[in-house]
Amino acid sequence: MTRPVAEPYKIKSIEPIRMTTRAERERAIADAGYNTFLLKSEDVYIDLLTDSGTNAMSDRQWAAMMMGDEAYAGASSFYRFEAAVRDVYGFKHVVPTHQGRGAEHLISRILIKPGHVIPGNMYFTTTRAHQEMQGGTFVDVIIDEAHDSTAQHPFKGNVDLDKLRAVIDRVGAENIPYVNVAVTVNLAGGQPVSMQNLRETRALLQKHGIRMWCDATRAVENAFFIKEREAGYAGKPVREILHEMMSYFDGCTMSAKKDCLVNIGGFLAMNDESILQSARELVVLFEGMPTYGGLAGRDMDAIAQGIYEMIDDDYIAHRVHQVRYLGQQLLDAGVPIVEPIGGHAVFLDARRFLPHVDQEQFPAQALAAALYVDSGVRSMERGIISSGRDPQTGENRKPKLELVRLTIPRRVYSDRHMDVVAYSVKHLFENRDRISGLKMVYEPPTLRFFTARFEPLPASAKKQEKELALV
Ligand SMILES: *Cc1c(COP(=O)(O)O)cnc(C)c1O
Repeated sequence: MTRPVAEPYKIKSIEPIRMTTRAERERAIADAGYNTFLLKSEDVYIDLLTDSGTNAMSDRQWAAMMMGDEAYAGASSFYRFEAAVRDVYGFKHVVPTHQGRGAEHLISRILIKPGHVIPGNMYFTTTRAHQEMQGGTFVDVIIDEAHDSTAQHPFKGNVDLDKLRAVIDRVGAENIPYVNVAVTVNLAGGQPVSMQNLRETRALLQKHGIRMWCDATRAVENAFFIKEREAGYAGKPVREILHEMMSYFDGCTMSAKKDCLVNIGGFLAMNDESILQSARELVVLFEGMPTYGGLAGRDMDAIAQGIYEMIDDDYIAHRVHQVRYLGQQLLDAGVPIVEPIGGHAVFLDARRFLPHVDQEQFPAQALAAALYVDSGVRSMERGIISSGRDPQTGENRKPKLELVRLTIPRRVYSDRHMDVVAYSVKHLFENRDRISGLKMVYEPPTLRFFTARFEPLPASAKKQEKELALV
């Protein structure tokens, strides 16, 4: 028997949630165009749409917010925020932004010229959108295993050095303003990158004089996986591991809405003075003064406190274990999920879950809608809809991974909530042949997954036959 480990916090304030009837949920999802992004949160029982900005703050963070300095310029909140970023991440300079994409916008605008190529370990929606907006082209250099939901690899987020070398040879180092390495890799299923891979990638890029930039959104979760899985790191505090990881980068973009345990915020951090200078010039235009960047003083104080809470070893161990607790129940029941289980979410493999639904009929979106109808659990599609269209050809990009993401907010739900989710997913899996595909009836021009609308397709001929046979 193993001794159970409970949440390393207790509850001081609660937020009631509402269970709905199946009829109410059928109406709600139809009104939302079968897109879980368009549901009202009051109609959701357990909200696993995202771990972005959905964190529960601590009493200490709420207390820090009361200390917020709302001065327009030079607020003391900024200096506390700057000190925390310097101390924990180790970069010399930081510019706050309203969230991660604000930082992506700045760095893309500063470094990318039309025709540039930006290699990265799998795309991320907003990251690639900003690169393309500046005339750049994203090239995927993640290891092959990342595109296979069943491949077992402890560091499935790793950069494939041969692929990276080939890109450098093909386009020339002068056309690569930086390589963007995400730790962990969200769209691969929250998969980590090893320290050794960061070290080797750094060495290769240094040889060619190419910058290495980090998407540090979930770097603490990545640091925990290094501690668990990489030789030489077992006894080290997550804080030290994070610091070493960041030491290989020239800078990072950050969505504080993830790791930093807050509800809003982000930053661009770097060592290079000239990039800082450009970032300060642009941030004034797009976000706000360089000492608030679209945030209130209190938001920066909440981030500063959250930065110290996120590197607590007990906290991060429970965080990753809770995700695994959900994923393991599904694996034990034979439900197809992305393996190994990642750091922030469990990803259902909709291709294997619904083999009778063609990718052009949006199996992941259909599964997310069915999960909501079954139990009021909200999840999100990460497949053909999120992937969008190729800007050159206008064709749908067809990613190998067609996933439904069950994203676990930090410090919000108990392990008992995870049991409720696992039960519903297992129930759907047992009745999977009753789930049919969708048809897209409204498609916005960019980041379509947020607002696209769908209608259910009639059940397939084969399924109708089966239903008739039952009658
Ligand atoms: C969320 C996220 C972003 C964008 O951050 P926002 O705060 O949502 O703008 C960038 N990269 C990754 C990996 C993310 O998960």
